[in-house]
Amino acid sequence: RIDALEPSVLAFLTRTPELALQQAQTADEKRKELKRNGSAIPRLLGLPIAVKDVLTVEGIRCTCGSKILENFVPVHTATCVHKLQEAGVVILGKTNTDEFAMGSSTENSAYFTTRNPWDLERVPGGSSGGSAAAVAARFTPAALGTDTGGSVRQPASFCGVTGIKPTYGRVSRYGLIAYGSSLDSAGVLTRTVEDAALIFEVMAGYDPRDATTMDVPVPQIQLDSRTDLRGLRIGVPKEYFIKGIQPEVEQTVRAAIARFAEMGAEIKEVCLPHTEYALPVYYLIAPAEASANLARYDGIRFGLRVPTESNIEMFKKSRGAGFGSEVKRRIMLGTYALSAGYYDAYYGQAQKVRTLIKQDFEKVFESVDMIAAPIAPTTAFKRGVHTEDPLAMYLEDVFTLPANLAGVPGLAFCCGFDSQNMPVGMQLMGPHFKEDALFKAGHAYQ
Ligand code: GLN
Repeated sequence: RIDALEPSVLAFLTRTPELALQQAQTADEKRKELKRNGSAIPRLLGLPIAVKDVLTVEGIRCTCGSKILENFVPVHTATCVHKLQEAGVVILGKTNTDEFAMGSSTENSAYFTTRNPWDLERVPGGSSGGSAAAVAARFTPAALGTDTGGSVRQPASFCGVTGIKPTYGRVSRYGLIAYGSSLDSAGVLTRTVEDAALIFEVMAGYDPRDATTMDVPVPQIQLDSRTDLRGLRIGVPKEYFIKGIQPEVEQTVRAAIARFAEMGAEIKEVCLPHTEYALPVYYLIAPAEASANLARYDGIRFGLRVPTESNIEMFKKSRGAGFGSEVKRRIMLGTYALSAGYYDAYYGQAQKVRTLIKQDFEKVFESVDMIAAPIAPTTAFKRGVHTEDPLAMYLEDVFTLPANLAGVPGLAFCCGFDSQNMPVGMQLMGPHFKEDALFKAGHAYQ
């Protein structure tokens, strides 16, 4: 299927068919052996997955969608990928992404823009657009993504698939090439909530290689066919239904919330008063952290090198040639926000407001179990409409950024279609480490 349709979808930056066949053969042999011994067969054994090209897999090129890492072959494997490999998955390849995961459409990839399988003129969302498109095009039942400010949930919404952004600290970031370290989380895109839960369970957990992972037990998620949600309290934040949202998105999400009510959930309007600050806060904190994280691409240790007489010149030329314009914009914004004399006014102030955003969630979770909201103000847009205007692109992220700033989990799934037949997604956000509650509610809906 990939051979037939990839030329029109363009989901992959690197394909690894030989490796996949080899891994599939190993999985087959393992299955036979387990069967012979009468042992249980691990549920993910032989499952094909694709991996976003910001997560490392030893021996497979990892570009981060950037020219600066065009020929970079990592010598280590991301913990979340490693755990899945231990469970027997088969890796199909690395999926397209906006450069260093900075973007909402994959148009910032230095290589090409992935197409939305529902309408090839439209973007798949981003930055995990390659992963979302690969699942939507049925190239793979699951693809790993990362979510720093919506990059799992928004492409899931645009491509009509499911995606989980776990609690910050739930899944190891070891081997996730850093963008905004205090926001980055690795997740997965799948067709169904059930599939997402199965894979999440394996990816999650404490990792001594990532000091920000928490040693909190990962629950065995039991999803049954129960659709009775009596006793569940769902909050609907009024700040997420603002002017500028595409009317059909609002209608579809509201209809889905009504269905949760029909299933017995109690629906309450709630207030997250600092929501409007999430966008400016994120676009200070994420670029600030990015400017520090991207300092390592110096033309010396790894990545592109433009040879020149002096090292300083080489540093400048290599970065000048290797980074694309959005990445450069973020490095400049971030460096400015962190510079002496401005730090308190920008980065320091943003951190304070971030705390207020986090407290909004804590307050609301005293009276509801989860929050239901739209993911993006629009369905998938056409290629090119936001490329000249970075601020318009940033506005696509208004509903996804708060969860990253607060570190709470978010589950995205499809809840209907607009009049152009494009999928509309919704998200459930819950308290820290309560992914299982989100999976249960999402599964009941699906
Ligand atoms: N669109 C957001 C950005 O450009 C979020 C990206 C992400 O989650 N990786 O920063």
